[in-house]
Amino acid sequence: MEPNSREVRKCNLCHRRIFFALTKNGQWQALDAEAEPALGSVAAYRRGIRLWWCRSLLAADADEYPPHPLERRFTPHAQTCPGWKPQQQEITGIVVESSPRALPQRQQAAIEGRPSNVVPLQRRRSGSAT
Ligand SMILES: [Zn+2]
Repeated sequence: MEPNSREVRKCNLCHRRIFFALTKNGQWQALDAEAEPALGSVAAYRRGIRLWWCRSLLAADADEYPPHPLERRFTPHAQTCPGWKPQQQEITGIVVESSPRALPQRQQAAIEGRPSNVVPLQRRRSGSAT
């Protein structure tokens, strides 16, 4: 079963054919419209009129539930879209800190080329307990 012409639309970024399927968490996931019987990492099936459900085949419990004969394997469009930008975008208007250290933090972020609202993790080494 393939998505029909009413379910397929074009990606806003690359204009390739995609369709949307609902995950068990209630999120819409964009999938490539052409099935990938061997390599697709998402199993999807039509649940109703213009409604597809999908689940990841990379999840921890995927081995317990192999693809059902009614499910088809698809690829998430985020994997194949050339216009997709997976890195975190800067959120304008968010101030990380209001303390006197905020200005060096922002300056350091600009020097390192990361958005100012992304704070690098600084962990104490496990062997250096005081
Ligand atoms: Zn795209």
